[in-house]
Amino acid sequence: MKVDIQRAVELLKSGEVVAIPTETVYGLAAVISNPQGIGKIFSTKKRPFFDPLIVHVSSLKQAQEICSSWGEVAQALAEAFWPGPLTLVLPKSDKVSDLITSGLPTVGVRWPRHPQCLELLKDLGIPVAAPSANLFGKTSPSRAEHVESEFQGLVPVLDGGASEVGIESTIVRVDGNSLQILRSGVITLSQVKDALERKKVNYQIDSVIHQRQAPGMMKHHYMPQVPLVLVHPGKKFDAVEALEMIRQAPAQIDGVTLVKPKSLCTPKELVLPEDSGLAARRLYTELRKVADQGADVILFYVKPSHLGEDWLGIMDRLTKAASIEFR
Ligand code: AMP
Ligand code: MG
Repeated sequence: MKVDIQRAVELLKSGEVVAIPTETVYGLAAVISNPQGIGKIFSTKKRPFFDPLIVHVSSLKQAQEICSSWGEVAQALAEAFWPGPLTLVLPKSDKVSDLITSGLPTVGVRWPRHPQCLELLKDLGIPVAAPSANLFGKTSPSRAEHVESEFQGLVPVLDGGASEVGIESTIVRVDGNSLQILRSGVITLSQVKDALERKKVNYQIDSVIHQRQAPGMMKHHYMPQVPLVLVHPGKKFDAVEALEMIRQAPAQIDGVTLVKPKSLCTPKELVLPEDSGLAARRLYTELRKVADQGADVILFYVKPSHLGEDWLGIMDRLTKAASIEFR
C-alpha cells in the first residue's frame, strides 16, 4: 500500500513501520524513540536481534545527539560525504536503545540524500532506524514495487522512484583516529582517505575486523529466489557439478537459508553495465528480473574489470548473494 509523506509521518509517529526511499536502497523505518516500532522492524523482516540497525538522520546536529563522542575523523567524513551513502559507526548516546544496536556500545548513523526521505525526516523531527526493506537474507529493494512484492503489499511504502545509488551504504567504523571499512559501497576506501588527507586529519586504517564489533556481516545475504552462481574468469559453468556443490552446502549459514533447487536446467545470465555506478544502480532490479524470468539458476560471469576498487561493493553483494562459485 502506497502512502504520501504526511501519512508516512503519522504512521511512524504512532509506532508503525513504513518503507521509505533512500538513495541506496529502500529502508523499513521506525522512529528511534518507539520500542514497539523498532520491534516491528525485526518481526516484519524476520531479522535476528543480533543484527543492528542503522539510524537515519536529517542533520549533523541529530547525528551528534545520538553519538556520545564525535571527533575530527567523524566531522571530516560527515562534511565530505553527507548527505550521502556513507554510514559511520560511533559510540552511541543514551538516545539509542540496545534493541537498535543489538547491545553494542556503538551506533551506525547516516544522513541520506534522497529528497523525499529528507522531507519526511524533517517533518518527523526524530531520527528513524531503517534496515533494508526486504525479508532477512533476501535481495534488497531499490524500487517501491520490490517492497510491495516482498511483503505482499502489507507494508506502507512511500514511493520515491528507483534508488539512485542502488546498493547499501559504505560502513566505516570510527574509533578515535582509527577507522576501518566494515562494508563496501560506492564510496571507496581511496575516497575516504582522500577526504581525510584533504582536510589534514590524522588517521590510521585498522584492517583487522573483530567479529564482535561487526555483526550482520553474514557470509550469505541478498539472495534471490533462484540460486545465483558466480563464474570467475577462465572457469566454466557445469550444471552437474553445480548441483552437487549446492547439494553439499549446508542448509543454513548464519541463519540465512540457502536456495537449493532440484535441477539447474534453465540458466539465465545476469548482465550488468560495465560502468560500476550504473551496475550498482541496476544490480537488485536485474537480479529480481532474471529470477522472475523462469530460470532455475542465474549465472554471473565475473570479468577482470570487476576486480577494481569501484566494483568492490557490487562484488561483495554478488558474492554474498551467490549460492556457489566456480573459481
Ligand atoms: P542494513 O541491513 O543495510 O541496514 O545494514 C545494517 C548493517 O550495518 C548491519 O548488518 C551491520 O553489519 C551494520 N551495523 C549497524 N550498526 C552497527 C554497529 N553499531 N556496529 C557495527 N556494525 C553495524
Ligand atoms: Mg539489508
